[in-house]
Amino acid sequence: IYILAIESSCDDTAASVMCNGKILSNIVASQKIHEAYGGVVPELASRAHQQNIVPVVDMALKTAEISKTQLSAIAFTRGPGLMGSLLVGTSFAKSMAYGLDIPLIDVNHMQAHILAHFIEEDGFKKPPFPFLAMTISGGHTQIVKVNSYFDMEVIGETIDDAVGEAFDKSGKLLGLGYPAGPEIDRRAALGNPKAFAFTKPKVDGLNFSFSGLKTAILYFIQKQVKANPNFIEEHLNDICASIQYTIIGILIDKLKLATKQTGIKHIAIGGGVSANSGIRQALKNGEQKFGWTTYIPKFEYTTDNAAMIAIVGHLKYLEGDYADQSIMASARLKI
Ligand code: ATP
Ligand code: FE
Repeated sequence: IYILAIESSCDDTAASVMCNGKILSNIVASQKIHEAYGGVVPELASRAHQQNIVPVVDMALKTAEISKTQLSAIAFTRGPGLMGSLLVGTSFAKSMAYGLDIPLIDVNHMQAHILAHFIEEDGFKKPPFPFLAMTISGGHTQIVKVNSYFDMEVIGETIDDAVGEAFDKSGKLLGLGYPAGPEIDRRAALGNPKAFAFTKPKVDGLNFSFSGLKTAILYFIQKQVKANPNFIEEHLNDICASIQYTIIGILIDKLKLATKQTGIKHIAIGGGVSANSGIRQALKNGEQKFGWTTYIPKFEYTTDNAAMIAIVGHLKYLEGDYADQSIMASARLKI
């Protein structure tokens, strides 16, 4: 079974070819243009997708060394995401499937972040059902109870900012470039996580909130800079370490509560923020401290990519679960 998958939900144009659950190619064209604006500009993203999609798909087929006539089906991201971006991938996938007269398969991007754990990959174990998935990215923060491939229940999510935004917005306050997550991570390793204390938000149950933290950091910095104009430069690594420590504390507290409420101790993470070395370490500690078994996918399957769309396409293909040509992109698609 050969699946071609297309992902265009935000600012990365991606295509991947999968053969029986194994990745043959995984191409991502990232859009640099947004860096100058400190965030993704939807209209520019959509235009860049239009420019990238043909060469990216072409490269995915070439790298996989297969011809388009060998494809069994085409999978694409239907949502959630930016409408203008989703439309490019959706229209492209629909026309290509129609032209080749092969099945078209719609994929939910957030399900794909979770099912990325089922890509056949040497050295990576797959979580057993049921497991808890925590998706942490630039647009989402969710804890999902995964009963089977397509039976998933969101048991907690953010009520305001996503955790990736918490990293990026804090970084912006410190004058770091966009996205700031990776740099905060690097600097955190060089700083003291207990140098400064930020209060954690109080949100009941398994939901998250990050906007209060951003405000707390803003006031803290304003106050310090008033007293010492060089405060940020002098303490940047310590500030980064303290911010990261606070964010990780929030995530781990909620995971502890989720394992307690569900009795499930298998925890899989996904989304761009799962690249964070502090979170990886905290999960590993959880294995010893709380008896968790944790699952972290290969790095290129955690940020936005089409390989994760391909595995969902593959699993839906096995079930004969196809879309028809009337399907539309859906910006607010839910799990
Ligand atoms: P979504 O998947 O919800 O549509 P997205 O596409 O913006 O959102 P991803 O590409 O999965 O999200 O992740 C990007 C986010 O991950 C950014 O906010 C970035 O700062 C953050 N990030 C990446 N690497 C790290 C890291 N090492 N530490 C912390 N955050 C990181
Ligand atoms: Fe994503």
